[in-house]
Amino acid sequence: MPNTPAYAAPSKTAPLGPHTIDRREPGPHDVLIDIAFCGVCHSDIHQVRDEWGGSIYPMVPGHEIVGTVAGTGNRVTRWKAGDVVGVGCFVDSCRDCAACKSGEEQYCENGMTPTYNGRERDGKTPTFGGYSTRITVNEDYVVRIPGGIPLDGAAPLLCAGITTYSPLRHFGVKPGDKVAIVGLGGLGHMGVKIAKAMEAHVTVLSHSPGKRGDAIALGADDFISTADAAVFAQHKSRFDFILDTVSAVHDYNAYLRMLRLDGTMVLVGIPDPTPVSAGPLVSRRRRLAGSSIGGIRETQEMLDFCAEHRIQADVEVISIDKINEAYERMLRSDVRYRFVIDVSTLHAAAAR
Ligand code: NAP
Ligand code: ZN
Ligand code: ZN
Repeated sequence: MPNTPAYAAPSKTAPLGPHTIDRREPGPHDVLIDIAFCGVCHSDIHQVRDEWGGSIYPMVPGHEIVGTVAGTGNRVTRWKAGDVVGVGCFVDSCRDCAACKSGEEQYCENGMTPTYNGRERDGKTPTFGGYSTRITVNEDYVVRIPGGIPLDGAAPLLCAGITTYSPLRHFGVKPGDKVAIVGLGGLGHMGVKIAKAMEAHVTVLSHSPGKRGDAIALGADDFISTADAAVFAQHKSRFDFILDTVSAVHDYNAYLRMLRLDGTMVLVGIPDPTPVSAGPLVSRRRRLAGSSIGGIRETQEMLDFCAEHRIQADVEVISIDKINEAYERMLRSDVRYRFVIDVSTLHAAAAR
């Protein structure tokens, strides 16, 4: 399918603009999806601007995809035309390594196939993401969007939702645990809602004092402005678990000291490089860990959990021509709390 309308970054310094891509015709095990909405993740900015190195251009970002099945290959039995589905951060993996076999494809030992800015299993064909009108994906890497979640509010669950759900589950956060979420952006606001639904006592640590009211409205029990450096000493050894979603370089050591004895801090934000000192870890047997998105099975579990708890993202829906502005606003921490592209506006942009 040539001439699929998309929006692409031509290089790490140029703004995104209209572009067309070639989507493969569905093979026997493929699903063709008409994309309705695509969330805008800070990882899109990191990769468009080549902040992690190795970016492939032109780049069509977008890994928070929701839409409707338009057609299926002749061996597909699980999906049919009209199904409402999602695609997250990867579209394939080796299926053979220990990680894949245990349903943690995001940690595929042979490298998962990212939804964009990567290569298909052939090692050659570039992958293109959800800033486009349709996508062809292998049936095993598609999830079902439960009824009851509006599609624009569902899109961010495919990355921001699973990236916060997975470590909260994996590290065993329990009712009553004192949890801190650092950074109230796309990931952070999902972290607040999900941790609250897990019945934790949730505190937001934010460098934007003006977000206090929003944090409480989103369900947080407490809010601490880290704009005042004195708070780090005031709240020393307070939390059982800290989830750090911050996209910019900041001092992890100060946050580590807010963990109690044996507490765990998990990094999901990826602002490398950031130094860590041994002192705060050693002095209270604290743990520092990282976590990457979640596997397909866990992503489905998270979607069902969100449907059951009536959780969706707080979104600002934008037309595709506002994408460059949205990136600038995210860099100023001015997002309430996820930009989501109305993909129907891509058809109009392509026609111009
Ligand atoms: P976002 O919506 O832009 O939110 C990031 C938040 O970080 C901001 O809203 C802000 O919250 C805080 N922040 C920004 N600059 C800061 C600074 N200088 N000091 C302290 N706090 C600052 O970004 P996002 O989409 O949630 O993504 C966050 C990070 O997670 C990115 O690095 C992204 O690449 C990464 N990510 C990782 C995974 C994974 O699998 N591990 C998945 C998705 C995304 P406040 O205003 O409240 O301080
Ligand atoms: Zn993401
Ligand atoms: Zn694998």
